[in-house]
Amino acid sequence: MTARDLLARDRRSVWHPYNASPAVGPIYPVRRAEGTRLYLEDGRELVDGMSSWWAAIHGYGHPALVEAIERQAKDMAHVMFGGLTHRPAVELSEKLASLAPDPLERVFLCDSGSVSVEVAIKMALQYQQGRGRPKKQSLLTVRGGYHGDTFGAMATCDPVNGMHTLFRGALPEHHFVPPPSPSFGEPWDEAHIGELKGRLEQRGGEIAAVILEPVVQGAGGMRFYSPRYLERVRELCDEHGALLILDEIATGFGRTGRLFGCEHAGIAPDIMCLGKALTGGMMTAAATLATGEVAAGIRDSAPGLFMHGPTFMANPLAAAVSLASIDLLLQSDWQARVAAIEEQLVRELAPCRELAQVKDVRALGGIGVVELCDPVDMDVVQPAFVDRGVWIRPFGRLVYTMPPFVIEQGDLSRITGAITQVVRDHT
Ligand SMILES: *Cc1c(COP(=O)(O)O)cnc(C)c1O
Repeated sequence: MTARDLLARDRRSVWHPYNASPAVGPIYPVRRAEGTRLYLEDGRELVDGMSSWWAAIHGYGHPALVEAIERQAKDMAHVMFGGLTHRPAVELSEKLASLAPDPLERVFLCDSGSVSVEVAIKMALQYQQGRGRPKKQSLLTVRGGYHGDTFGAMATCDPVNGMHTLFRGALPEHHFVPPPSPSFGEPWDEAHIGELKGRLEQRGGEIAAVILEPVVQGAGGMRFYSPRYLERVRELCDEHGALLILDEIATGFGRTGRLFGCEHAGIAPDIMCLGKALTGGMMTAAATLATGEVAAGIRDSAPGLFMHGPTFMANPLAAAVSLASIDLLLQSDWQARVAAIEEQLVRELAPCRELAQVKDVRALGGIGVVELCDPVDMDVVQPAFVDRGVWIRPFGRLVYTMPPFVIEQGDLSRITGAITQVVRDHT
């Protein structure tokens, strides 16, 4: 079958993310992925600048990860988790609890990032009921956030990017304040927390939890903000009896230069969501971690149970490969690698600043962003990247890269070179 046939068949039956069916815009059939390369059906080879949406931090097909899945598949690919337990789930839960900031000790393993956010929200609401505060049913969050596509999670995404108007009436309405500020590295002023503080003071009685992406707002705008903001949110949550939910789905496992984003601020949330790089990008899995206090609050009131339980919860293949991926990460010199990626992104994306169509250029850890004044034309920009042998997938006004941590310097230069050229010539 040729790449053309495959595309024709794709157009007849397949739906792609944030797309119509048949798909709008260019789609590229991939045959194989290995290391930092995607091999297309038509024979072309692309350097991966996306880690498949923050996930494939070790590159593709790492032998240790493939082996973990193979080994686990021979024992048991899946069993229900109601009434049963198994070694991969116990070991992964212990591992996550030991790595996460201290008070997080209870682990709910689930199947995708969005579900882990749904779980976090439900935990917060059940906890507040359990502690005799049933009026606390709303969430407080910031504009420019992204927490997933399911209804509960979507209701906490930026109302404009998240297309809330399309689903008005079906979506719960939460409290929104402006995006966190100042930018990462900028000096702090108490005015930056003014609106969030004010909202908690006025409406704290109905706010169950504050939910945020720590330090980096990902799909909602790729903004990097001051860790001091997080420190203040932690204090304000405590003052107003609101839980702090940190969504570390994009930032977790080293992407910002720390193992978890909240480490920049030296704070711990009450509930934390993990996903994306959890399995090293090998398959879908996520986790919601909670403190002993959250677990106790839920246990102490009727029904005394947490009301959630996905069919594929704690999938043994996913748990086994997550353990292998975490081991690989911790045994590597990931801090040095991510620091080197950041340094190279800063240096090599700097020329983009000179371009009139560019609004801002920024890098933090393994994330490099060129923010444009206007949205890109994907019909032009996407083929331009592929023609230059790199896989970069912009959205809106954002051209960005978050390469696998194992990328070599020369390959990263190909990515930054392609970004610079494509932005210069095609936006
Ligand atoms: C990707 C992402 C999600 C959603 O995860 P899915 O696995 O796509 O459901 C939630 N929060 C953040 C911060 C994300 O980056």
